Amino acid sequence: MTLSRAESAADHDRTVVVGAGLAGLAAALKLAEAGKAVTLLESRRQLGGRASSFLDPSTQELVDNCQHVSMGCCTNLADFCDRVGISDQIEIHRILYFLDEQGHVSRMSAAPLPAPLHLAPSFLFLRFLRLGQKIQVARGMIALLARSADTPGESFLAWLRAKGQQDDTIERFWGLVLTSALNESIDRIDLHYARQVFVEGFLARGRAFRVEIPRTPLSEFYGPVLEASLRSRGVDLRTQTNVARVVFENARVAGVSLRTGETISAKNVILAVAPHHVASLIPEENRRQDDRFEGIERLESSPITSVHLWYDRPVMTYPHLVVVGRQVQWLFRRPAGNEGYVQAVISASRDLSARGAEEVLSIVRAETEELLPLARSATLKHHRVVTERRATFSVLPGVDRDRPSSDSSTAGLVLAGDYVQTGWPATMEGAVRGGYIAAGSVLGLSPAQSLVPSLQAEPTVRLLAWLAEYIFPTRKGTLG
Ligand SMILES: Cc1cc2nc3c(=O)[nH]c(=O)nc-3n(C[C@H](O)[C@H](O)[C@H](O)COP(=O)(O)OP(=O)(O)OC[C@H]3O[C@@H](n4cnc5c(N)ncnc54)[C@H](O)[C@@H]3O)c2cc1C
Repeated sequence: MTLSRAESAADHDRTVVVGAGLAGLAAALKLAEAGKAVTLLESRRQLGGRASSFLDPSTQELVDNCQHVSMGCCTNLADFCDRVGISDQIEIHRILYFLDEQGHVSRMSAAPLPAPLHLAPSFLFLRFLRLGQKIQVARGMIALLARSADTPGESFLAWLRAKGQQDDTIERFWGLVLTSALNESIDRIDLHYARQVFVEGFLARGRAFRVEIPRTPLSEFYGPVLEASLRSRGVDLRTQTNVARVVFENARVAGVSLRTGETISAKNVILAVAPHHVASLIPEENRRQDDRFEGIERLESSPITSVHLWYDRPVMTYPHLVVVGRQVQWLFRRPAGNEGYVQAVISASRDLSARGAEEVLSIVRAETEELLPLARSATLKHHRVVTERRATFSVLPGVDRDRPSSDSSTAGLVLAGDYVQTGWPATMEGAVRGGYIAAGSVLGLSPAQSLVPSLQAEPTVRLLAWLAEYIFPTRKGTLG
């Protein structure tokens, strides 16, 4: 296919971004801020990609496909929200509430102590771990701090066992945190990503672990304010615009063709779609010339199930609960309005996603009503079960070998998304990083120049990390 040559000078330098999930939005923002001509094409009506909502026909409410949570350590997502003017719509939870099988609620919050001791007082009082388990966890945390523990490609479960962590500690603490943070079961996690969650998310700084939740449904959060902000910077944003193919001329990107038959010329195309959509948009001969595509096909994905329950009265007194020892892992209450609404989330929900919606509802409802005494006497008015089968890619040991670089060996084709080499797991932060790196690649910047730096660990953490090398020596690439 040959593209029309009757374009303005700006069009010759134009970048087309395909997909207005967080990666595409972040890439378009960065390019527009650098004064580049940018067209952002999205097949759906709304922005936000996987972080979006749907209109529930019975209640006429916007309901999130799943509650999306970020943390204080997500520096690039925070930067993106600041730039587009939506940060004031984020609710910050400075206390993490854990609910155990006995109905006890334990609180984790930061004490005014230098990191990583800020969490020590509340950790000591967690009711769902015995003293012996807490000592094991503390030893594991110190071992994780050692820089030599950062060995991508190793299994975290094997590392835990080599460090003497017992099965019940693994299940009740390490698995509890990681299954929801990484959307994978504990036996399928790369050591690098597990370490990142605990070191960057909990230990490095006091504010890193705070939980951040949009006050509004995701489609409003990533909605009109964001859209106006992009347009005011000159982004040519087109929703309900389905890209059929990336068009190449002489092995170089020339633009994209739409399902309507229209073509749009571009010097660069940033492909910011989910990994399983990539192959269908690139002609086979161009894929064969670019070895990044083989790795993408090997990426595995993991499902998330969310169950939305509408009761006839308020049933949950805490803003969220991390649930210990059940299938349900998190419960969320809506910040305002719909006081009877509760959302139950199950990450890495392979067991549940093989079952029918009614069976999932009955399992989750029974657990929710056991966990929330107020729900037992309330009437369930309405429910929705949503399973996203390909919610995120799996952070399997060695996954980085298959994550492609953003930058292109096929001239002009840049990849963006949570799955490219961002150093982060599949999260909103990972997606924004992917978008910033892709924009940087078009602008001739390295990933380090394109990203907002991660939170700096406090000096006490760095000292402890240094000492940890001596307390728990770990040769690089080996366990134990
Ligand atoms: C159920 C669920 C729960 C999650 N929970 C969390 C959480 O709590 N915290 C967190 O940080 N992350 C969470 N995530 C992960 C997070 O949503 C993703 O990592 C992130 O949104 C991915 O963004 P992306 O831009 O890389 O891809 P996507 O969001 O998939 O964006 C790709 C976009 O491309 C568009 N597109 C595809 N094909 C075409 C085409 N041919 N033409 C035009 N447009 C096209 C799609 O419509 C989509 O909008 C969750 C994900 C799911 C599914």
